[in-house]
Amino acid sequence: MRIAMVGAGYVGLVSGACLADFGHEVVCIDNDASKIEALRHGHVPIFEPGLQETVANNLRAGRLSFGVDLNAARGASVIFIAVGTPPRGEEGHADLTFVHAAAREIAAAIEGYVVVVMKSTVPVGTGDEVERIIAEAAPRARFSVVSNPEFLREGAAIDDFKQPDRVVIGVEDDEARQVMNDVYRPLDLNQGAIVFTSRRTSELIKYAANAYLAMKVAFINEISDLCEKVGGDVQDLARGIGLDNRIGQKFLNAGPGFGGSCFPKDTLALMKIAEDAKSPLRLVETLVESNESRKHAMARKIVKACGGSVKGKTIAVLGLTFKPNTDDMRSAPSLTIVPALQAAGAKVVAFDPEGAKSAKDLLPGVIFADGPYACLEGADALVIITEWDAFRALDLTRVKKALRQPIVVDLRNIYRRDEMLALGFHYESVGRGHSPKTAAARTPTAA
Ligand code: NAD
Repeated sequence: MRIAMVGAGYVGLVSGACLADFGHEVVCIDNDASKIEALRHGHVPIFEPGLQETVANNLRAGRLSFGVDLNAARGASVIFIAVGTPPRGEEGHADLTFVHAAAREIAAAIEGYVVVVMKSTVPVGTGDEVERIIAEAAPRARFSVVSNPEFLREGAAIDDFKQPDRVVIGVEDDEARQVMNDVYRPLDLNQGAIVFTSRRTSELIKYAANAYLAMKVAFINEISDLCEKVGGDVQDLARGIGLDNRIGQKFLNAGPGFGGSCFPKDTLALMKIAEDAKSPLRLVETLVESNESRKHAMARKIVKACGGSVKGKTIAVLGLTFKPNTDDMRSAPSLTIVPALQAAGAKVVAFDPEGAKSAKDLLPGVIFADGPYACLEGADALVIITEWDAFRALDLTRVKKALRQPIVVDLRNIYRRDEMLALGFHYESVGRGHSPKTAAARTPTAA
């Protein structure tokens, strides 16, 4: 089957490369000519584990190719749209400019029967709109528009695409349904579950899924604040509730608030969809607000750990990306926390294994170090914002020697509190309050 993928970013490139791996003939199209030129030479412009190899293998095998416009899609029976849908203005509606442009370009290139598949995350009714755009521009074209939202996670995108928990397909006619079955037939081998539904339901499933996961994160973050106040441990608590199958253990790690290319914009967009439909989603409104204030609260937590002021102090920050194993800086909590520290008078030195390149433009005034130890040399405090594996087993004696003051603020709870205290650190983490009884038991000399 010949497939075209319009948009070769995090989603389009991973999806295209994986579909080629399944044996389909795939052309990835992007209007960023320099990106396409790099990809044609096998250079993958983003960091995603396993993607470089998958692209290279399929290029070599002749199943994957690249193009700069829809001419490259000629002969494709399926055309995916995987372009960006960023927030529009301050309000948060999804900006569909790229989607509409892609639809017009597809209309100009359609030959024979084509299934146009929306992989981008789009508001309810966008499928209808794309159908209208294509039908108006190409009245003779025979085509179907399908919704097939993507659920992959950056950092684990290849595995997620190839072994998904489910594939959701919103389709309005049998012909397109059959074609989509053929696209995903290889997944039968992995026992992937395909959920067929209407196009509008499919569009809404993507937003509802992200809002639900974001709500879990916001919930555990609020509970972590309570733990700090009343002497509970949020990690034990998360295990204690997460082992209940009805709740599940994932997305219950307390931290500095969610970020990334999806949760922040998709929760906002869902709020707007609900507002426009006059069916407001109070829980989603609250979680958005809660997450926003969380990031500012983390900056205040760091200032407090530094004795109430960071003016003139040097703060070493490890990890800037919104999560490990990606170079994606979109809506990362560091983009709120670091400027807040700078505004309070701190000099910030940072290290991130893959994110530094994109972070440099987004975080003016930050000094970028070459490694974790170089980052914290002479700093007044160390702050861990992203839990890259490389930060999990630092030589703590070396860390203590390098720091001017042994202050560590661990916003991802990757170190053990008792160990850090025993080593003489002033250690702050998230949601790990201490009950007076446990503290007394651990310190025999305590009053
Ligand atoms: P991205 O910004 O990384 O990639 C989008 C690409 O589309 C860019 O390379 C851009 O140059 C290209 N593009 C824009 N208009 C084009 C056009 N007319 N023709 C050809 N190329 C065009 O975005 P992304 O992170 O891959 O996200 C794409 C969509 O998938 C969004 O709707 C997003 O919400 C959704 N999504 C993203 C993730 C994720 O983890 N990144 C996960 C699930 C869903």
